[in-house]
Amino acid sequence: MNYDYIIIGAGIGGLSAGLNLAFNNKKVLILEKNSLPGGLVTTFKRGRFEFDASLYDLMDYGQDNHTGSLQKLFKKYNVEIETLPIPYNIRIKSLDEKFEEVIKGEIDDWVLRLEELHSGSMSTFRSLLPVLKEIHEALVALKKGRDNIEKDFPNFMKYIDKNTEEALIDLNIPKETIHILGYLWIEIGSPLNKLNFIDFAEFMYKYIFKRPVALKNKNIDLALKLAKRYEELGGKIYYRSEVSEIKDIEDKKEVILKDGSSYRAKEIICDLSERYVLKNLMKEEYPFANQKENARTISMNGLIVYLGLNKSYQDLKLYNYRYYEFQNLNSATNMKSMKNFSHHTIEAVVPNIVNEECSPKNTTILVLKTLYSKDVWQNVNKTNYYQIKETLADELIEEFESAFHIDIKEYIEEMEIASPFTIEKYTNNINGSMFGPMRLGYDNSIHRLLSYEDEKIPHLSFVGSSSLFGNGVDNVFYSGYYITEKLLEEERRSE
Ligand SMILES: Cc1cc2nc3c(=O)[nH]c(=O)nc-3n(C[C@H](O)[C@H](O)[C@H](O)COP(=O)(O)OP(=O)(O)OC[C@H]3O[C@@H](n4cnc5c(N)ncnc54)[C@H](O)[C@@H]3O)c2cc1C
Repeated sequence: MNYDYIIIGAGIGGLSAGLNLAFNNKKVLILEKNSLPGGLVTTFKRGRFEFDASLYDLMDYGQDNHTGSLQKLFKKYNVEIETLPIPYNIRIKSLDEKFEEVIKGEIDDWVLRLEELHSGSMSTFRSLLPVLKEIHEALVALKKGRDNIEKDFPNFMKYIDKNTEEALIDLNIPKETIHILGYLWIEIGSPLNKLNFIDFAEFMYKYIFKRPVALKNKNIDLALKLAKRYEELGGKIYYRSEVSEIKDIEDKKEVILKDGSSYRAKEIICDLSERYVLKNLMKEEYPFANQKENARTISMNGLIVYLGLNKSYQDLKLYNYRYYEFQNLNSATNMKSMKNFSHHTIEAVVPNIVNEECSPKNTTILVLKTLYSKDVWQNVNKTNYYQIKETLADELIEEFESAFHIDIKEYIEEMEIASPFTIEKYTNNINGSMFGPMRLGYDNSIHRLLSYEDEKIPHLSFVGSSSLFGNGVDNVFYSGYYITEKLLEEERRSE
């Protein structure tokens, strides 16, 4: 069967690409290997608990009169979701520096607290805010293909090649404050001395000016809503349809499924990592593909422990929405602690703080996560896998209890553990990586955006966390929109 476009993967990136193409009356087929849409944005049941696999903070959706880009796109497609505001209420602890702090309240409260901690933070932090705004506006202009970027956005040009640490030092932010601001990047294993400043600035812009929100309903409801709207617009999805090969046939591409069936389209869009596609699905070699792959750093993998606790969060004294424990607040130093199985990065989220109804009355959901560099799991095999993952989960729970003086072990009613193998099996992410390729050094969003045309493999595009804007539901959704807009524009030009 022939289509205009075939999309491999119904993750949020694939669904977004499908929505925009179907919205533009194209004949589109999404092939998804699992039996549900959403990829990592999914929900699973254990006993009386429904756990969301990944999405707890939705960025760039915005609230009140601060409408984010994601919300604007959802409105365009007529997709309605209910969201809840997330309070800034984050507890951070660092073992080496013997530092423990709660970041709470509105931005002004933060700034005052940062000033109390390190004198000089307030004025410099305030002067950072217009720089974040300018960089955001420059990115919007760049995506629209506007000229005069150099003239209109001098700070964008000044910092385009700088890593985050260099740029923040240049902006006179005290070093200690830089490390405190870096906690979100430690969580995803990106060292600030390698992370491109433009990517950091764009994230901070959304975090501060658009405020993250939580979904009122479960992850899977969002995925099902997007899939339903796509189908209403005429798009097709085939589930349990794993693609095993992509071939060139005349002026089209053909995809072959594991069961031997095949479909053709003039363009294939992959909601998958490029490395996976080039290594596993394609036989042709592309000269720049290796070069590009060498520049990529696949993100950390890790262990996620989903806990259903039979006590309320108030009784458990779980008062913060997010908890972080690091070995060291310096993101580069901290990454070294991820090279073995002992935990010294813990990230925890308590969704009940935002949404009391996310679990049955007088119960709490607690999700713990720790990161590892990819080699750590190399010696794990079929014989020791279950024992290792259960021991690691126990240790993670104990470390969380002792770090934050909270008893949880005796209240565990349900527990599920996701290892890198779980993530790899569900999504085909290389090494079970949680966040796709990192936006580090040369391989940052700006470079990906500017080299898009030159590095494009004919009739093959990528959306999702491996694509232009990296990981995060807002970014992957936006990648689906942006890439398909480019393809539609090319189509119009060639007509
Ligand atoms: C623990 C965790 C917490 C997170 N928390 C947040 C958060 O709070 N906020 C946020 O914004 N982001 C968060 N993220 C990141 C976010 O979930 C991802 O960036 C996003 O969901 C990735 O979407 P995607 O479309 O790129 O890929 P995926 O979700 O990986 O989707 C890829 C799809 O392709 C399918 N597929 C793979 N191979 C094939 C094949 N050969 N044939 C057919 N189908 C195939 C898979 O089944 C899958 O459905 C989190 C991630 C993790 C792991």
